Amino acid sequence: MSKISRRNFNTLTAKGIGGAAILSATPFACALGANQDKKSLGIALVGLGSYSTYQLAPALQETQHCHLAGIVTGTPEKEKIWADKYSIPQKNIYNYQNFDEIANNPDIDAIYVVLPNSMHAEFCIRAAKAGKHVICEKPMAVSVEECDAIISACKEAGVKLGMGYRLQSEPYTQQVKKFVKEKTFGDINFVSADAAYRSGGNPDQWRLNKALSGGGALMNMGVYAVQSVIYGTGENPISVSAQEFSTRPEYFKETDETITAQFEFKSGAISNITTSHNFNANAMYVSGTSGWFQLQPANNYGPLSGRTSKGEEIKFPHESQQKLQMDDFAKHVLFDEPNIAPGEMGKRDMMIVEAIYESIAKGGQKIALNFEPGFGFGG
Ligand code: NAD
Repeated sequence: MSKISRRNFNTLTAKGIGGAAILSATPFACALGANQDKKSLGIALVGLGSYSTYQLAPALQETQHCHLAGIVTGTPEKEKIWADKYSIPQKNIYNYQNFDEIANNPDIDAIYVVLPNSMHAEFCIRAAKAGKHVICEKPMAVSVEECDAIISACKEAGVKLGMGYRLQSEPYTQQVKKFVKEKTFGDINFVSADAAYRSGGNPDQWRLNKALSGGGALMNMGVYAVQSVIYGTGENPISVSAQEFSTRPEYFKETDETITAQFEFKSGAISNITTSHNFNANAMYVSGTSGWFQLQPANNYGPLSGRTSKGEEIKFPHESQQKLQMDDFAKHVLFDEPNIAPGEMGKRDMMIVEAIYESIAKGGQKIALNFEPGFGFGG
């Protein structure tokens, strides 16, 4: 079985996106002005839960263009633990109350919001008002209205906004986009994407609390399946119909357990997604007029894996997705490279999430989606 490897992938991409890494004039001269002399973006993580602790902070030890400069936590006991582990000076440690004083701290260039979903909008907006660039975890917020408020706040402050969509920066996703763009398997006519895991344990966790999460499986894992069908077709959908299934209502009291949805695309392609907090699923399958390819696993922290109808294995050396993602954002800020996962991408996905919930509320009715071509696509 032949292999599509990082080496030939890099050779090809070096002529494309990589070649555009040149400083250029920008409307955000004010925000960028402060960064132009910097070689590494100082990032402060807000919310030191499991994702910050086990993924982002370790990844920030490997990044080339950004580093862990500060923390913002509501749990005083974590301050010393993190300060000792990562040599963070006391002056770069904040809590939720004094967070806005971060405006006066030149060590911190960007704020990465890693809090429960309903807190993203407040902290992204406060970060922007403090004049700091913003990375927002997924899902962007709990409504499209909140996404708009985050985007506006960043525009008004002249700061950059990126989403914590780690898969957008990793080589398997880039390969999917390349297959689609180059029509390696012809015109795409079908994509199936599943993103799910079985949730158990603490029934009081914030992901099961609608006020904090904004929703269940769809808000959490569903956004990966939505993203997969968009990069798997290369298009935004024009309609969606959706269904919800509940088998453990005593556990999932407020949030969705399992959702399936079907999308139509202008090209004529169709797609199916499944997302759940009740079972495990982690795959994407793309069929075109002259073949197919699939990734399985497709959306965990890696290593991912894939194969094609040509008998090829899709295989890249494993690298931290979070490292790649944060370095991509830093290169966007420092060197004006493309924004791989802009705020509009987070907003687009929330528009789709809201349409899915609307379809379910209307008994599976087809809901039209009217995106401008390419809306929310990253650079
Ligand atoms: P977590 O429960 O492990 O951590 C949440 C953090 O928020 C904790 O530090 C907690 O103290 C703090 N917090 C502040 N107010 C809170 C409140 N009212 N209730 C609960 N916690 C509160 O969650 P996590 O897994 O780290 O997720 C945080 C964010 O990161 C979420 O938006 C999630 O969707 C996102 N996330 C993204 C990925 C990814 O792969 N991109 C993976 C995991 C989580």
